Amino acid sequence: MEVTVRCHQCGSALPVTPAEESAQIDCGSCRQAFMLTFSEAVRADRQVDRCPVCEGGDFYRRKDFDPKLGVTVVVIGALISAGFYYFGLDLIAYGVLAAATLVDFFIYGRLSDLTVCYRCHAEFRGGYQQTAGAFDLHTADLLEPEYERKVGKR
Ligand SMILES: [Zn+2]
Ligand SMILES: [Zn+2]
Repeated sequence: MEVTVRCHQCGSALPVTPAEESAQIDCGSCRQAFMLTFSEAVRADRQVDRCPVCEGGDFYRRKDFDPKLGVTVVVIGALISAGFYYFGLDLIAYGVLAAATLVDFFIYGRLSDLTVCYRCHAEFRGGYQQTAGAFDLHTADLLEPEYERKVGKR
């Protein structure tokens, strides 16, 4: 399993591979130190039961999707489409736009799932069994402030 710790000071993503039971990592950008405690299930890539960063047990599942990539495909498609439209080739213009949307769906459908911690936004990638539910805004509204208070951001 690979864990991506989200630095609460500067927002940097810090990739860690759980090997030892506990580890200390330093943020590469702002030098914030994190004490991580990996549960046995996390180290064995079996299940995400406890967050190594905030020790929370609430997670949601989402597609491992880079939103920038999806937007880029659609923007490029729209630009090409606009070019055809300008020259009066409406049908090709619509075709290109439809193709870009399809490519976007295709990328999305092929993505694997990852688990995210509600509190500290740590991300978990691996072959473990996905048990977390879909993102719930109400839960996030409750748990995010709790973590932010804990790390002194509120
Ligand atoms: Zn940082
Ligand atoms: Zn967490």
